[in-house]
Amino acid sequence: MPELPEVETVARDLRPRLVDATIVGARTSWARTLRTHDPIAFAEGVAGRTVESVGRRGKQLVVGLSGDAALTIHLKMTGQLFVVSADAPEDPYVRLVLELADGRELRFRDIRKFGKIGLYGRDPINGELVAELGGAAVFAGIGPEPLSDAFTLREFRRRLRRRKGRLKPLLLDQSFVAGVGNIYADESLWRSRLHPLRSASSLRPPDERRLYEAMRGVLSEAVERRGSSIDDYTAPDGDGSMQERLQVYQRTGEACPRCGRPVKRIVIGARSTHFCSWCQRLPAADRGNAAVILRTIAGGRRRAGRRWTELAGEGTLGLTPLEAERASRRARTERTKRAAATRRASARAAMPAEQSTS
Ligand SMILES: [Zn+2]
Repeated sequence: MPELPEVETVARDLRPRLVDATIVGARTSWARTLRTHDPIAFAEGVAGRTVESVGRRGKQLVVGLSGDAALTIHLKMTGQLFVVSADAPEDPYVRLVLELADGRELRFRDIRKFGKIGLYGRDPINGELVAELGGAAVFAGIGPEPLSDAFTLREFRRRLRRRKGRLKPLLLDQSFVAGVGNIYADESLWRSRLHPLRSASSLRPPDERRLYEAMRGVLSEAVERRGSSIDDYTAPDGDGSMQERLQVYQRTGEACPRCGRPVKRIVIGARSTHFCSWCQRLPAADRGNAAVILRTIAGGRRRAGRRWTELAGEGTLGLTPLEAERASRRARTERTKRAAATRRASARAAMPAEQSTS
């Protein structure tokens, strides 16, 4: 699922294409893509508005519209956005289209249909996005932006020291910090040499600093590299390259770049977690409780192995974890190839429009 760097890249690519464009209508082919309106009300709600800004908050795009309104776009698993000429062929996975006055369209393509688009008002007093005046702010529960200037080491420490629980789930918690998901949580922990099951309360000041610097470092590098093009992620100006720089994420069994020992994978809270058990030691104080989790994980790992092998289209039962990992890797390669093919197809569809508008 696209995380902060991927969504930031999409926002940056869309900005020059959309700002100052006027929306004249909308077509929705999958009504559940809409978070706040039915398709007719949505089309009426956006028609006549001009795009004023394209930004990001956490993992969502925020498209500021004239008349104190805004769209939020959550790409979720497979959402993609393209700006194309209205006469470009439409593929069956396009769920929603914003028609622009200049003959172009913003198309939301989403194979798995988990993506969500909302239309909100902007509170004239505090600028917060709200579904209705006096209603709850859309981003009220979302934590600070980790790359903002306001997110200092001191602020990070202040927030961290109010939290209990283990580091991996904490980094994924959007109310703790916005925009970090599975990829960059694993990479941040590996870079800072902290075990994913380590408790937040056990960190010493140097650990806190390493985690803060690792998280900001990996996110900034990923933004520079236009995100990680894994599975279906791509952006209007093309794929990212951060996937080539990931050290542990989805590299189970490969050599840890720091110590050469194999990268391990466990499941924490139903999320795959990749780490090096040599470089990321679990302190004795955290081991007692972790043992219970790790035992549960052993069961979860076998189940996960079967699920992956089903994806790989192979015999399933009786696989060792290592075999399951290999099958998982093959399935992933297949998915990545398929995703790259659909990205190329989309890019080809987008091409005529890019040329005609430039
Ligand atoms: Zn290592």
